[in-house]
Amino acid sequence: MSTYKLFLLPGDGIGPEVMAEVEKIAAFFTQQGVAHFEIERGLVGGAAYDAHGQAISEADMRRAAAADAILLAAVGGPKWDGVPYDVRPEAGLLRLRKDFNLFANLRPAICYPALADASSLKRELVDGLDLMIVRELTGGVYFGAPKEIVDLGKGQKRAVDTQVYETYEIERIGRIAFELARKRRNKVTSSEKHNVMKSGVLWRDTIIDLHKREFPDVELDHMLADALGMQLVRKPKQFDVIVTDNLFGDMLTDVAAMLTGSLGMLPSASLGEVDQKTGRRKALYEPVHGSAPDIAGKGLANPIAMIGSFGMALRYSFGLSDLADRVEAAIAAVLAKGYRTADIKGGAPQSVSTGEMGEAILAELKAAV
Ligand code: NAD
Repeated sequence: MSTYKLFLLPGDGIGPEVMAEVEKIAAFFTQQGVAHFEIERGLVGGAAYDAHGQAISEADMRRAAAADAILLAAVGGPKWDGVPYDVRPEAGLLRLRKDFNLFANLRPAICYPALADASSLKRELVDGLDLMIVRELTGGVYFGAPKEIVDLGKGQKRAVDTQVYETYEIERIGRIAFELARKRRNKVTSSEKHNVMKSGVLWRDTIIDLHKREFPDVELDHMLADALGMQLVRKPKQFDVIVTDNLFGDMLTDVAAMLTGSLGMLPSASLGEVDQKTGRRKALYEPVHGSAPDIAGKGLANPIAMIGSFGMALRYSFGLSDLADRVEAAIAAVLAKGYRTADIKGGAPQSVSTGEMGEAILAELKAAV
């Protein structure tokens, strides 16, 4: 049986509560003998600041580097609003992304049939939705130079952001999208604005070349980013994998998030280059939501986004697709049986706690053995 090293960073607010539910599932799989998870725990965000005055310690960075996958829950909260900028809670998360060069952000948008009525779209448009947005995360207009505001005098200023992409950046994100599509419904939609942006022209040409050279078996189409925004709310089920740049991806992932209902349901992954020693990509898995200080410590948090993030680690870091399928099926089953945390309660008569939702998912996994 293979051993997988998981490094857990529960962080702040509801983080420890939702992470506890993942630990139960990992322990069950280990006990069942299907996979052996070797778990280490560290501190990030406000919790790390309180312990060592840093948003993540060097020792925890080393543990993160040695792990096969990192699972992070959430950072931040009003308690740390006044701490110095370079040690604020988010700095821990940014350090992990930067040091491990996590250039690809994967955000699935899955709409469980039992929750289709929680979407802002009509049930028939989202029922059974399962798409994946692959967003470039370390390049583009958020990082390009020059980035400045210049005083032109006479009360006038000029603000400049620079959208810049090089071939290798587009190729490596494209490769991730095509590889993912091969494990799904084998279709990639690449999105940019080549009609008005030079970076869009290079993006499109590079994806076309890469497709011809390495992935001719995958269906590829192209859609301008504005049209894609429209199609996402018009007919979202037409998509399988969408690949796009940092800026368009930022917006399109938020649109896709609303298709599925609650923040408490959305997992994500950030992937880096393949590690030459282990053959695995550096990877950080985290729910899309934050530390939700308004409900922290009350047992109200929905653990599904965190459990779903663990499911993504099983699939994308460990190649344990069977186990990932089992986790997703267990989530779908408890939702179909009517289990609801407060955030997805809708018109349901009552809701369950974080622990009860976690236990129900675990019970489904046990029942399916
Ligand atoms: P948030 O995602 O924490 O909360 C937004 C709303 O969604 C809140 O009403 C919250 O109760 C609810 N919510 C979020 N997750 C939930 C869950 N699992 N179950 C049930 N309800 C849930 O965003 P925010 O309120 O804007 O930010 C709170 C703190 O989190 C801030 O300090 C912010 O900087 C931080 N934050 C961290 C991350 C991260 O760690 N990646 C992401 C976003 C925000």
